[in-house]
Amino acid sequence: MMEVKGACNIFKRSLTFNDARYTKYLGDGGSKAFDAITEENINGDEFQVEKLECIVHVMKRMGSRLQRLKEKMKGQLLSDAIRRNLNSVHAMRQAIWAISMYKLSTDEHPQHGICCIGEDSWCGFKKAEATGSARKHKNNLPVAVVEAMRPVFRDVSHPDLLTLYFLTVLKSTTLVTLISS
Ligand SMILES: [Zn+2]
Repeated sequence: MMEVKGACNIFKRSLTFNDARYTKYLGDGGSKAFDAITEENINGDEFQVEKLECIVHVMKRMGSRLQRLKEKMKGQLLSDAIRRNLNSVHAMRQAIWAISMYKLSTDEHPQHGICCIGEDSWCGFKKAEATGSARKHKNNLPVAVVEAMRPVFRDVSHPDLLTLYFLTVLKSTTLVTLISS
C-alpha cells in the first residue's frame, strides 16, 4: 500500500515542483502502483504512462514457473518409470528417457524413437502407428521450456538417483511384504 502511495507521490511531486512528467514506469512485476498512477491520471490525458517490464522480474517469474513445472514433471516421470520397470535401474533409465522424449515431442518434431512399439504401448503415437490411426500432439511446450527441461531429464535419469529411488521402492515393497505375510 505504501508502495502504491509512494509511486503516486513521486509522479505528483515531479509535476508540481519540476513541471516534469514521468512517462515511463518500471515496476517490480506487480501492477498495483502502475494501476493507481493511470487511474489517478496524474499526468493528464495527453501524457500516458508506459509500463516497462523489468527483465529480471520477468525472468524470475518465468523461472519459478519453470521450477514448478520441473518438479511436477520430475515426480511424474519417476513414478511412471518406476511403476513400469521395477526390475532394473537400466530399464528404468531407458523408460525415463523415452518418457522425456515423448514429453518433448511436437507435431513438427516428433521424438518417439525409443518409445515402446505395438498396440499396447503407453505411447499414444506408437499405439496409433500400430493400429494405423492418426494422432496429434497435445503437449506443445514452448521451445525455451523444452530446452530448459533437457538437463532436468538428464538429472532425473542419472543412475545414482535411480538407484536411490529403486532402493527406496524396493525397501518399502519388502516392508509391505513382511507386514502382510
Ligand atoms: Zn512416443
